Amino acid sequence: MSLPGVLERIQQACRRAGRNPQEVCLVAVTKGHSVAEIRERVLAFGDYPLGESRIQEALPKMAELAAQWHFIGPLQRNKAKFAVRFDLIHSIDSLRLAEAVARKATEAGKQQRVLLELNLGREPQKHGFLEEELPEAMAQIQALPGLRVEGLMTVAPYSSDPQAVRPIFAQLSRLADRYQLPERSMGMSGDFEVAIEEGATLVRVGQALFQPD
Ligand SMILES: *Cc1c(COP(=O)(O)O)cnc(C)c1O
Repeated sequence: MSLPGVLERIQQACRRAGRNPQEVCLVAVTKGHSVAEIRERVLAFGDYPLGESRIQEALPKMAELAAQWHFIGPLQRNKAKFAVRFDLIHSIDSLRLAEAVARKATEAGKQQRVLLELNLGREPQKHGFLEEELPEAMAQIQALPGLRVEGLMTVAPYSSDPQAVRPIFAQLSRLADRYQLPERSMGMSGDFEVAIEEGATLVRVGQALFQPD
C-alpha cells in the first residue's frame, strides 16, 4: 500500500457511506520515518498534514519540512511550549494539560486548535477522558483563553476485526454531535474505513503509507 492506494480506499469508504470525500482529511502519521522517506512516500503526492506522536522526534523534522503538523501522541505538561508549534493537537487528555497548553498559547499570542482525547474503550493503559468525565472537562477547557476546541479524538482498542470497533467510532461521532464540534479524529491503518463510515473527519494513517506495494 502507498498513499494513492489509501486515498482510493478513503474514497470508496466515502462512497459507501454517502459522504463527500472532501469531508475526510488524511493525516499522514510519520513517526519512525525519516525526512527523506516522508518526502518520498507522502509529500510527493501532495501537502498532507503530518502527524507525530513524540515531541523530541518531531522537532528536527519540523525544522526541515514545511508542512501542517499535527501532534497526536501523549503529551507531557512540561512540553506544552513545544506543542503550541503544532497546527492541531489531537491529544488533550486532562484539564491540567489543557491549562498548560492554554498558558503557552496565550504567551505565544496564539489560539491553539485542539481536540479532546477520549478513552471510549475504557482501557487502563490508554490515555483520554472517560465518557462520564467529558461534560465537566469540556466546560472547563472551553472556558480557557488561548484554546479552541474543534473536536474529539479516540484510539480504538486493538482488534484484528475492524468491524468490532464500529460502536466506538459511532459513539465518538454522537458525542461530537452533542457538543456541536466539527472534527472527529478516528481511524488508523487497520480501521480507517470503518471510522469514515461512522463519521471520521480526520483519519490518522501511518503504516499503510510506508509499506512497499
Ligand atoms: C501511530 C499512531 C497512528 C497511526 O497508526 P498506524 O497503525 O501506523 O496507521 C494513529 N494514531 C496515533 C495516536 C498513533 O500513535
